[in-house]
Amino acid sequence: MATYNNPGADDIMNEARLYIHDPSSLALIQKAENFAAEHHAGQFRKSGEPYVVHLYNVAFILATMRVGPKTIAAGLLHDSIEDCGITREQLAQQFDEEVADIVEAVTKIGTLKFKGKDDPEYQAANHRKIFIAMAKDVRVILVKLVDRLHNMRTLEYQPEASQKRISSETLDVYAPIAHRLGISAIKNELEDLCFYYLNKDEYYHIAHLVETKKTERDAAVNHMICEISDMLKKNHIQFRIFGRSKHLYSIYNKMVKKHKRFDEILDLLAIRIVTDTDLHCYEILGYIHAKYKPIPGRLKDYIAVPKTNMYQSLHTTIVGDDGKIFEVQIRTEEMDAVAERGVAAHWRYKEGNRYSAREEQKQIEEKLSWFKNFALYSEENGGSESASEYMATLQHDVFEANVYVMTPMGRVIDLPSGATPIDFAYRVHTDVGHTCVGAIVNGTMVPLNTELKTGDVVEIRRRKGSGPSEDWLKFVKTNQARNKIRNYLQKKEVEKRSEKIEEGEKILREEFTKRGFNAKELMEKSRLENIYRDFQVGNYIDFMYGIAVKSINPTIVCEKMTRAKARLSEDQTVQRILEREMPKLHNSKTGIIVPGIDNIKMAIAQCCCPVYGDPIKGWITKGEGIKVHRADCPNINTPHAHLIDVEWDGGDSERSYDTDIAITARDRSFLLTDVVTVVSQCKAPMESVNAVVNHETLTSRITMTLRVKDVDHLNNVLANIRKVDSVITVERTIH
Ligand code: MN
Repeated sequence: MATYNNPGADDIMNEARLYIHDPSSLALIQKAENFAAEHHAGQFRKSGEPYVVHLYNVAFILATMRVGPKTIAAGLLHDSIEDCGITREQLAQQFDEEVADIVEAVTKIGTLKFKGKDDPEYQAANHRKIFIAMAKDVRVILVKLVDRLHNMRTLEYQPEASQKRISSETLDVYAPIAHRLGISAIKNELEDLCFYYLNKDEYYHIAHLVETKKTERDAAVNHMICEISDMLKKNHIQFRIFGRSKHLYSIYNKMVKKHKRFDEILDLLAIRIVTDTDLHCYEILGYIHAKYKPIPGRLKDYIAVPKTNMYQSLHTTIVGDDGKIFEVQIRTEEMDAVAERGVAAHWRYKEGNRYSAREEQKQIEEKLSWFKNFALYSEENGGSESASEYMATLQHDVFEANVYVMTPMGRVIDLPSGATPIDFAYRVHTDVGHTCVGAIVNGTMVPLNTELKTGDVVEIRRRKGSGPSEDWLKFVKTNQARNKIRNYLQKKEVEKRSEKIEEGEKILREEFTKRGFNAKELMEKSRLENIYRDFQVGNYIDFMYGIAVKSINPTIVCEKMTRAKARLSEDQTVQRILEREMPKLHNSKTGIIVPGIDNIKMAIAQCCCPVYGDPIKGWITKGEGIKVHRADCPNINTPHAHLIDVEWDGGDSERSYDTDIAITARDRSFLLTDVVTVVSQCKAPMESVNAVVNHETLTSRITMTLRVKDVDHLNNVLANIRKVDSVITVERTIH
C-alpha cells in the first residue's frame, strides 16, 4: 500500500496560491484553517493523529483539484457541525452562506445510513441517486468524495468489520460517482483501496503478477516510447509521452468479468501521448497507424464523441515490432486534465468580479453529461432509451419523483415528491402510521400535511390506541398510506356499525319496556318493517343505526308502533260498524220535480251530491236529461242558458241520498274509530271511508261517502263529527 505524507497548513496555502491570487479569497482559506484548528483542538483520529490532519488533507487534495476558495474552506470546515457542535448559522456568520450550505449538506450526507448488501432492499444505484439528490451542488459531492478518499487512505485504523462495510459502500456509491464526475484519479485510488480491503488475497495476487512482469513490461514500453518520440520529433509536433500502469482493480475486473488470463489483458502495456491541439491528436494517430499495425475495432474517437463524463481522447491498440500489444491514448493537455480531475478541471476557478459560483455550477451541470445520463448509469447494461427519455427519467427519478428523508437514526426513506409525515410513518411501519399523532421535522413540530423535503429528519410522535383520521386521505401521496388508512377506517366502520346496531336495539327495547309494551313482540323485524318508510330508511340495520346515532327518535317510534297496532284493530272495528245492519233507505226516485213538466229523465249530480232540502238547480244535458246540482255548485256557474229551475217534491221518509264529506284532524290513535262510531250513532250509513295520514303535518284526512235522509240529517252528522276530539274541520266535498 502507498504511504502518504500529511500536508500542513502552509502546504494548503502554497497549493492554493498557485491559482488563487485574490487576497480576500486566500484570507478566507486561512480563516477556515484557523477555525478548524481551534475547534477541533483536542480531538484525535483513530490513527492517533490530531483531527485537524484529516481536514488539512481534504483541503489540500481539493486545492490540487483547483477548486474555488469556498470549496477549500468548506473542506476545512466539513466536520465542524458534526464534531464541534457548530451550527450552520454560526458558519454563515463567520464565513458565508455558501460555505455554510456546503458544510451542512456534507454533514447530512454523512448521517445517511445505506442498507448493507445483505439487506433485501439493497440497491446500489438508488444510493447513488440519494447521494446526488442530497448533495444538490457539485461542490458538496467533491468535498464528500475527497473526505471519503482520505478516510479510505486511513482505513487501516478501523476494525475489520468497518473496513469491509466502508469499502463496500465506497465501491458501490463513491467510486461510481467519481467516475461519473470524470475524476479518474480519485475513482482509481478509491477502487484500489476498496479492492485491497475487500479482497486482500486477490489484491496481492495481481499486485504480484504486475510486479514480476514489471521489468519486462518497462523495457517494452520504454522501447516503444523511444520509437514514437523519434517519429513525432521528426514531424515537429509538440508532445509529452509516458507509459502508464492500469490500476489493479481494473485489471482484476477485466480478469473476472471477461474471463481473461492476466497476460491476455490487452492494454496492460499502455502509453499516453499528450499534445497541444485536437488536430495534432489526429495527426499523431495517423503517424502511429502508418508505422504500426492497428488491431481492428479498437480505435475509439472520444474527441469527436466525448464520453458521458466529458472524457475526451483517442484510443487505439497497436502491435509493436516484437509482437507486443500496446494501448495508446492520444489527447490534448486540457483533455488530460479533464480525464484526471473531471468536473474539477472544468471548474476553472476564475478570479475577479465576473466570477459567480452559481453561474459556474450551472455551466458545469450543463456540460456534465453524467447529469443527463444518471438514469442510464443506473441501468447501464439495459439502457436503450433516447436522450430525452433519460432526462425525463432522471428528472422524475431523482429530482421530482422522490424525496429522501431520514429517520432520527439516519435510515433513508425514499418517498414520492409531495409526501407528508403520514406517508413517512406508513413507510416505516403500518403501526407507526396508525398511531401517528404528530411529526417533528428537523427538530420542529409540524402539521401532518407538511410536504417533506430531501434531507429532512423526520420523527413521528405516536399514541397508543390512536387511529388514522379520514382527513389524512386528503393529503397523503403514497398508495401504501392511502390503502392502509382506508382499510383501517373500513374495518373501524364495520365494527362501529355493529356496535351501533346493538346500541339501537337496546335503546328501542328499553323504550318499549318503559311504556309497558311487549318489547319482544314489537321488536320483530316484520313488525318494524311497516314503519321504516316513515323514517326514510330501507332496512333494519339503517333503522337501528339511526336510533343509536339519534337521527331517529325512539319516542316517535313507539307512538308510530302503537298507532300502527291501533290502526290494525281499528280497521277491524270500522269493518264491524260498516257491516252492522243499517236502516234500509230506498232511493227509488230522486224526489225532484221540474215545475210544469212530467216524466222527464233526471239524475242527481255526483260532484256536489245534493241531499233533500239543499237549494238545487237543474242542468240540461245532451242525452242524459237533467242533472240536479246544489245551487251553489261551482260546476254549473258558467253558461246560464242550460239551467232550469227544479224543486224537491213532498217529504218521503223512505228516501235517502249519498253525499261526500271530508274531515281534517290532528292524527291520533283511534281517531278513525271515534269518527266512524259517531257517524254510525247518527244512523248515517257509510258507503266508503278512507283515511290518509300526512306525516309532515301529523294530520289525518278522512273522506267518506254517507247516506243521509236530508240536509238536516247531514248537518246533524257533521255537527257531531266536529265534536270528536282533535277534529279540525269537517266539510261537504265538491269534486
Ligand atoms: Mn471527514
